[in-house]
Amino acid sequence: MSQFPVENGELVVGGVPLTRLAARVGQTPFYAYDRALLSARVAELRQALPAAIQLHYAVKANPMPALVGHMAGLVDGLDVASAGELAIALDAGCAPADISFAGPGKRDAELAQAVAAGVLLNVESFREARALAEISTRLGWPARVAVRVNPDFELKSSGMKMGGGPKPFGVDAEEVPALLAEVGRLGLAFEGFHLFAGSQNLRAEAIVEAQQKSFELALRLADSAPAPVRVLNLGGGFGIPYFPGETHLDLAPIGANLAGIATAAATRLPGAALVIELGRFLVGEAGIYVCRVIDRKVSRGQVFLVCDGGLHHHLSASGNFGQVLRKNYPAAIGNRLEAPGTTPTSVVGPLCTPLDLLADRMALPDAGPGDLVVIFQSGAYGASASPQAFLGHPAAIEALV
Ligand SMILES: *Cc1c(COP(=O)(O)O)cnc(C)c1O
Repeated sequence: MSQFPVENGELVVGGVPLTRLAARVGQTPFYAYDRALLSARVAELRQALPAAIQLHYAVKANPMPALVGHMAGLVDGLDVASAGELAIALDAGCAPADISFAGPGKRDAELAQAVAAGVLLNVESFREARALAEISTRLGWPARVAVRVNPDFELKSSGMKMGGGPKPFGVDAEEVPALLAEVGRLGLAFEGFHLFAGSQNLRAEAIVEAQQKSFELALRLADSAPAPVRVLNLGGGFGIPYFPGETHLDLAPIGANLAGIATAAATRLPGAALVIELGRFLVGEAGIYVCRVIDRKVSRGQVFLVCDGGLHHHLSASGNFGQVLRKNYPAAIGNRLEAPGTTPTSVVGPLCTPLDLLADRMALPDAGPGDLVVIFQSGAYGASASPQAFLGHPAAIEALV
């Protein structure tokens, strides 16, 4: 993976060679995130998108507090999906005005915390709107709200669809005018709309189409709004390549289309901030997962590297986090990068289940106990998206380097 340099056959992360980093961290397995790569990704995106577009980081992708703190200094806002993530965002120093909170089942206690903090709440049901009105009255602070819309279209070729058709997220577009009337009647401070159609998309045309349709839908809904639209969150869905044959997302057409949207918004929604919210695209490629080979076994001719980490730390690399067909994440022996990858090797973890597979018959150099297996593209949906308590092994450490 070309984003990480190689020195003397070793991967270098944040300027530190891998074996030295493992010693510094003090244990395997661990995740390491490269600050410089995180910063470079945000800079690349700013370059490609019009200046009028605000960039938010979706904390769900990687909630490690130090990483969120680093991201908070780079982006225009943070999106959270629970009171736990809200606390991380506030601790990271993000201004409450720049935090928004989405999620289909916000508990009343979470709503109250968010109202007290002064963040923007993406309202996802009529019940939630009424609960927010009660909380506002009780606390004496107005709830700032945007309406999360379940659009009447899908994000095509998306890894995970989160809008269009029947969905638990947001309110169906056709019911939004009634919800807007309710928001007005309840006296909530209406600020705008949130549309999020899906995740992990590598086709620029599909993202362009979804953003364009989202903008047009928001323009129509704005006619029923109780106050001018001040924020329009057009979602995200930018993917990263994981598997052979996948290529990087082409940002140029997305930037060009967003420039058109920004121009139209200046007259049709004057004063509205345009936001996109990205998780995986911002952090996924800056992170690796590292585990150490405990044993090398050959079973009926098949080589297995048995490691001290696996599915319990990195569910998505094992293929069990939403994938339909299991494919290998890019992987390497991080301390033997100059050796040719010639041996079909399966990398497995220590769990007593055949699901604990990090690489299935991948061409890797000869490796054995003590060597370091690296799984790339691991900066998003890794540690926090894995069942770390499963089978009672130690948790992975995370380091920002
Ligand atoms: C999950 C999610 C995101 C982040 O998605 P990525 O694919 O990581 O960019 C952003 N917004 C909302 C509402 C989400 O649910």
